[in-house]
Amino acid sequence: MTSLNDIVKYTNDLLNIDQFRDYCPNGLQVQGKAEIEHIVAGVTASKALIEKAIDIKADAMLVHHGYFWKGENPVISGMKYDRLKALIEAGISLIAYHLPLDAHPVYGNNAQLAERLGFKIEGGFAKNGNSDIAQFGQLSATLSANALSDKLEAVLDRKPFHIAGNNRKIQSVGWCTGAAQNYIEDAAALGLDAYITGEASEQTFHAANELGIHFFACGHHATERYGVQALGVHISEHFGLKYTFIDIDNPI
Ligand SMILES: [Zn+2]
Repeated sequence: MTSLNDIVKYTNDLLNIDQFRDYCPNGLQVQGKAEIEHIVAGVTASKALIEKAIDIKADAMLVHHGYFWKGENPVISGMKYDRLKALIEAGISLIAYHLPLDAHPVYGNNAQLAERLGFKIEGGFAKNGNSDIAQFGQLSATLSANALSDKLEAVLDRKPFHIAGNNRKIQSVGWCTGAAQNYIEDAAALGLDAYITGEASEQTFHAANELGIHFFACGHHATERYGVQALGVHISEHFGLKYTFIDIDNPI
């Protein structure tokens, strides 16, 4: 048993949450039981994740996509009411980390993705406060676009959407998990061969072609599965908690 307050304080400090200007609150979003024995991690605090957490009698839920996003309707009704009611009735705390979890050099989504893909990290770009939200570096070997696409598919278990903005083989890459397609211009300005993220927009097609950069959209969920797992394993080991990762698959 560990107190909820200790877990939240430790994790807030670990992820330097005060350094970020984010679109949602980071840290504790919904308060549940004061003592935690079993913590669940998942990408998004959907109803499906809450129901699984209730089934396995979790005390707290650690997620990347929580609630209370800037600009959303603040009224607690409908889908939002159902989710909050289920959490509160079960006494499950919701702990969420958005940008601080993308950017963390060890447990972050970008760092964890780079590790799985064998990318050598050389630096970052797209600043938020003092932190880089995106990373760049080198592949372990130069690859054709098709070979990189196959590698992304093998690791992420999902076929990437590729726009061939140039005919070059790929050695240098930039990457940012999630919906970071708008950083394609920053990646091109760094002279990178390719940029990898989760989602694409209509304008991304033209941007990739006009900027002359390979673009790969590999899935928002698929690219953001790893940070919360690395953090969940670390927290559970640090505090001696029971830990379960629940993957609610999402094709987007
Ligand atoms: Zn995301």
